[in-house]
Amino acid sequence: MGVPKRRMSKMRMRTRKAANRLQATQTAVCAQCGARARPHRVCPSCGYYKGRQIVSVNAA
Ligand SMILES: [Zn+2]
Repeated sequence: MGVPKRRMSKMRMRTRKAANRLQATQTAVCAQCGARARPHRVCPSCGYYKGRQIVSVNAA
């Protein structure tokens, strides 16, 4: 069975583990209503994408 020859340094270990860390969802400001929305997707608050209304959003 393979046995590690040297103890892995803290930096090396942390650098590797950093790739598995969760990151906050990226958001972009909607050009139509100014709300934060995920980029390259129809805005959930106004239903616009690329300056056109794609879906109608019912204001509650
Ligand atoms: Zn919007």
